[in-house]
Amino acid sequence: MKYEMIFLDRDGTLNPDPGYIAALADFRFYPFTLPALEKLKEFSFCIVTNQSGVGRGIIDPDRLEDIHRYIRSQFEQHGLDLKQIYVCTDHPDRATPRRKPGTGMFLEAAREFGLDLRNCIMIGDAVSDILAGQSLGMDTMLVQTGLGKETLPQLVQPPTFVVKNLLEGASLLASRTD
Ligand SMILES: [Mg+2]
Repeated sequence: MKYEMIFLDRDGTLNPDPGYIAALADFRFYPFTLPALEKLKEFSFCIVTNQSGVGRGIIDPDRLEDIHRYIRSQFEQHGLDLKQIYVCTDHPDRATPRRKPGTGMFLEAAREFGLDLRNCIMIGDAVSDILAGQSLGMDTMLVQTGLGKETLPQLVQPPTFVVKNLLEGASLLASRTD
């Protein structure tokens, strides 16, 4: 199946998550991330990321933008169609429906790109990623990097796919012909 959009979580999915990455110098992709996504070049991507560090006053929004400018440039250099990076900066105590597991960022993407979310997939490492996807009828893929190993036993409804990391997940999606 050709997904209309592949939604990607950021921390723990694309990059190691030491907690509140506040500067570009502290950001790095997993070594397999860009090669993994290159297997999925015929797809389009959106990144959907909770960054409560901004709401907590730990991350400067301008530094966050530095990181996202770098991410966009790396996707572009690797020929990857990154449509948008959706960021929710809400503090968890004052969360709006944009903060995952809320669905706000996905609904924005659906409006912006005319998507049927039931024909999309969410890939992430946290309970909030999988719950957001499930509540919208999306396929879901749990990567067992970041929080992934702790996430699996917490899920009531299993994800569509459980994989070791994004590379295994991308290989799986690239090999599917149904
Ligand atoms: Mg994550």
